[in-house]
Amino acid sequence: MTKPIILTGDRATGPLHIGHYAGSLRNRLKLQDSHEQFLLLADSQALTDNAHDPGKVRRSVVEIALDYLAVGIDPQKSTICVQSHLPALAELSMLYLNYVTMARLERNPTIKDEIRTRGFGHDVPAGFLCYPAAQAADITAFKATLVPVGADQAPLVEQTNEIVRRINDVAGKAILPEAQALIPPVGRLPGIDGKAKMSKSGGNAITLSAEPDAISAAVRAMYTDPNHLRVEDPGKVEGNVVFTYLDAFDKDRATLEDLKAQYRHGGLGDMKIKRRLEDILQALIAPIRARRAEFAGDRAHVLDILRQGTATARERTEATKREVVEGLGLFQL
Ligand code: ATP
Ligand code: MG
Repeated sequence: MTKPIILTGDRATGPLHIGHYAGSLRNRLKLQDSHEQFLLLADSQALTDNAHDPGKVRRSVVEIALDYLAVGIDPQKSTICVQSHLPALAELSMLYLNYVTMARLERNPTIKDEIRTRGFGHDVPAGFLCYPAAQAADITAFKATLVPVGADQAPLVEQTNEIVRRINDVAGKAILPEAQALIPPVGRLPGIDGKAKMSKSGGNAITLSAEPDAISAAVRAMYTDPNHLRVEDPGKVEGNVVFTYLDAFDKDRATLEDLKAQYRHGGLGDMKIKRRLEDILQALIAPIRARRAEFAGDRAHVLDILRQGTATARERTEATKREVVEGLGLFQL
């Protein structure tokens, strides 16, 4: 029986953080046995807003591969591949741009949001505005039907499906499948500063390779309830980053609910909940950090994994491209 196909990826803009873990990596780990899974190191997409710093993008490819291996992505089960080395993705992107309008790209809520947070104003790189078409190429080239992502990615999967429907409509048959986003309950982990999203580019992240000191410092600096001044004051749980993180990472749900009740009522200090969170994060990250250091010591092995994965992905994506060209009845020599 063929397994359903997953495609996910990460932009090569820096090492992964606990937001990636909660938003997407945890699902990818869970699904790597039951699904055929492709993980895309999205270095081409990273350039759409990092063209000024190609070195960072280049270095991040291996950094993210190390993060994958460190959290337990198994290259025997999941295929890790490099976007810039898959020409079919670029070719499909160019084609798909003809099936989407500028107005639709500008209306995409994720794009609007990211243009604002990146401070582009009117100077949006053309590649950035168009990346939803490239992401549609990524998803469809693998014929993925499931995309485990954080909540910020839902509009991109929606836009992918619009492109799929247009192409299938023009072809008069279902060449490409539609995909579904798989978003966990904590679909958007806020930054340690309380901003809506922890992000590599936002400087508000705890990375999966963070040293113990950095984890402590991040938890200490974490945004709580600014009106919860004395221990005996009632505190707010909603919008309190520490509780949001506990929701994402604390497995002892019963105790967590008790702590929330106590905090709301008054009598529970920020120090206590921060200590609990710090213990959980230290325990989560310590084994990841150790495995990452091991893999980092054998770079040649990591590059081999990427070479093999990219070769497998090349075959798959070229096959889809041929099907699209044939399905649309485009000229072929
Ligand atoms: P950048 O700031 O460069 O865009 P990023 O931190 O947003 O980086 P991406 O590579 O864009 O990371 O995202 C990769 C995956 O991780 C996506 O599925 C995204 O939804 C998910 N993700 C990223 N940040 C978070 C977060 N704070 N909470 C939940 N999921 C997240
Ligand atoms: Mg992002």
